Amino acid sequence: MNDLQKNDPRMYEAIQQEVDRQNEGLELIASENFVSRAVLQALGSPLTNKYAEGLPGKRYYGGCQHVDTAEDLARERAKELFGCEWVNVQPHSGASANAAVFLTLMKPGDTFLGLDLSHGGHLTHGSPVNFSGILYESAHYGVERDGPLAGRIDMNKVRDLARKQKPRMISIGASAYSRDFDYAAFRDIADEVGAFLWMDMAHTAGLIAAGLLNDPMPHCHIVSTTTHKTLRGPRGGMLLIGKDYENPFGKKAPASGRVKRMSELFDSAVFPGTQGGPLMHVIAAKGVSFREALQPDFVEYGKQIIANAKAMAKAFLDRGYDLVSGGTDNHLVLIDLRSKGLTGNEAEAALQTADITVNKNMVPFDETSPFVTSGMRIGTPAMTTRGFGEAEFEWVVELMDRILSDMGNGDVRRHVKEEVRALCSRFPLYDFAVA
Ligand SMILES: *Cc1c(COP(=O)(O)O)cnc(C)c1O
Repeated sequence: MNDLQKNDPRMYEAIQQEVDRQNEGLELIASENFVSRAVLQALGSPLTNKYAEGLPGKRYYGGCQHVDTAEDLARERAKELFGCEWVNVQPHSGASANAAVFLTLMKPGDTFLGLDLSHGGHLTHGSPVNFSGILYESAHYGVERDGPLAGRIDMNKVRDLARKQKPRMISIGASAYSRDFDYAAFRDIADEVGAFLWMDMAHTAGLIAAGLLNDPMPHCHIVSTTTHKTLRGPRGGMLLIGKDYENPFGKKAPASGRVKRMSELFDSAVFPGTQGGPLMHVIAAKGVSFREALQPDFVEYGKQIIANAKAMAKAFLDRGYDLVSGGTDNHLVLIDLRSKGLTGNEAEAALQTADITVNKNMVPFDETSPFVTSGMRIGTPAMTTRGFGEAEFEWVVELMDRILSDMGNGDVRRHVKEEVRALCSRFPLYDFAVA
């Protein structure tokens, strides 16, 4: 980064300090990860200069032959990775991919059914401050408060709600749900009420690609994702269809008069529907990360993510913490801090003083506000990338517990911060310091 350092020292400094922060702290935010240097190199390439509206072979600009190759590589690799017939790798983010889903399947005012935000759902699944809640009517299913399904979704209740609400679309997917989904049961319900089924696998795409969680592809009409969470690619989004099908709206292709495929409607919803020019440097970087995810060691990585999350869950339970649903099947745990007399806000701030980064999170049936919260979400993908195994995660829980069980103690925080620094130095991340 010599040029950056020379020409723009203030910006260089900010970037260098963020790299240091990533190197020296425990990154436990469940939606974050660390990309490879190869992905960073593609991201930093001159492909950012190119306009390429349209799709490979059908662009609105000249000079697209090489970015066509890049996008085709990304598309072919994504299809192989997820065993699907069609992908669109252009969405700028998960939220952009979801905007294209709504534009294709819903008309303003239509009703959809999704997972409640405070039960682990995402902003783009009907929050009143998001377009999905502003333009569309949303009804929500949640997790059980107690009983054998405590913290989990009861499919019988989803069915009852679907029968009552008659939604045009049912969404699956979450940002803070530590259990897997029963896609076949969701599809059965969707078929019964005549709804489209959409899975947003933003958090779990990497684990699904590795074959470690249930596969949504055979059951859903559309799957959306981010590429930067467990999938470990650059920040971005993507849409996928397991098996393409004729669109039920009867829209015709202008030249041939044939009824369009569903994939064509989603392509148009991305561009020109909701986006302008695609980010070709990001698409190239997505392609690089998909190739990495196709290697056998990515499956080992996924297995370690889950093993680490289970070890972390057990270590918290052993220390008397409450976990929503009592444990985890994926990459995260959601801790209900109410029994410890702490809010998510307090816990997050206290841990940050020792360079341990987590995020406060609503828990099901939370009575606080989203700025306070009663919970804390902790994920393993990023530190697993750095090489942490179960023993390191058990140690991390011990360090967190020292702070959380002695909240006012500055000596404890200073001591834990030193331990964090020592632990991180054993698992190096990036080295961008300019010689
Ligand atoms: C992270 C996430 C998104 C949004 O992704 P952005 O890239 O931040 O827009 C959408 N849906 C779910 C379920 C997510 O977890």
